[in-house]
Amino acid sequence: MIITLKKEATQAQTDGLIASLKEKGFGVHVSKGESMTILGLLGDTSKVDPDDFLGMDIVEKAERVSAPYKMASRAFHPHNTVIEVGGGQAGVTPCTIGDGKSVVIIAGPCSVENEEQIMDAARAVKKAGATILRGGAYKPRTSPYSFQGLGAEGIKLLEKAKAETGLPICTELMSASELKYFENVDMIQIGARNFQNFDLLKEVGKTHKPVLLKRGLSGTIQELLMSAEYIMANGNENVILCERGIRTFDGYTRNCLDVSAVPYLHKYTHLPVVLDPSHACGIRWMVGTLACSSIAAGADGLEIEVHCNPEKALSDASQQLTPALFEELMDKMRKYAAVEGRTL
Ligand code: PEP
Ligand code: MN
Repeated sequence: MIITLKKEATQAQTDGLIASLKEKGFGVHVSKGESMTILGLLGDTSKVDPDDFLGMDIVEKAERVSAPYKMASRAFHPHNTVIEVGGGQAGVTPCTIGDGKSVVIIAGPCSVENEEQIMDAARAVKKAGATILRGGAYKPRTSPYSFQGLGAEGIKLLEKAKAETGLPICTELMSASELKYFENVDMIQIGARNFQNFDLLKEVGKTHKPVLLKRGLSGTIQELLMSAEYIMANGNENVILCERGIRTFDGYTRNCLDVSAVPYLHKYTHLPVVLDPSHACGIRWMVGTLACSSIAAGADGLEIEVHCNPEKALSDASQQLTPALFEELMDKMRKYAAVEGRTL
């Protein structure tokens, strides 16, 4: 249920109402806009009548929210959530996702393979103008015989790349027991295969780090939002949604990029939306076209895989861009962004 307060409601009156709602056992999510304050009631509101609130002087309206996700819902939080990544660290250039003005580019190799490889890739994506460096240290691989990632050592290498380039770093967390290695990671990625690992979602919900939550291979939009809700309900509202392609009946691409997820998510949630064209198509030559269409659809950011020697990559060799192709794409994406009045 959401309760919209009148403009004239004083802080003391607002606090009084919040306290009485909490006494009744509800969680209360407060969204303070410039012209109004909205209280979102969390918990079982089935026995509460919205009309009961209408008699109060400070209440403008009270209504039920039918969507099962509440904190992620735009009804609860009408203005866009803007999330800062990499702030407050000397030598690191922070960025904001969801401000409607910029398109954040998260780029780097699929996996961190060794020091030379990640440093070269970091320098290349930085030179081309990327905003965040990505690289998998813990890798979810279909085969147990494939390269599994360098683990904690891979995170140390990402930290080294961050120190040299000033780029904030994003890497995937597969198990809560690895969180202890993520202290200097600026954005935690929850991969498609773990998007409904609820215990993992609860654990990242207890951190305050930005979380890039990827949609599962066959996850519905509502399931994605319920997963976001898990993170938010546990205390972390810094959730960035990521569409990375879903499985369909047709296998001509690795997955099928659901571009329509962007306008839909923007309409029904306040969370930033990032698109990952690399995992969506799985084919190098198609990544650029999908990236540009994602910008046209209004994506707040893109995640793109870049490797200095893709043929030799230990994972996702066929989809990673060379630095030259990435640089060319960055120039092209700047033009698409400019049409939308945005910058890269
Ligand atoms: C990745 O980004 O490295 C990755 C494994 O992506 P996804 O979880 O979308 O497959
Ligand atoms: Mn990959």
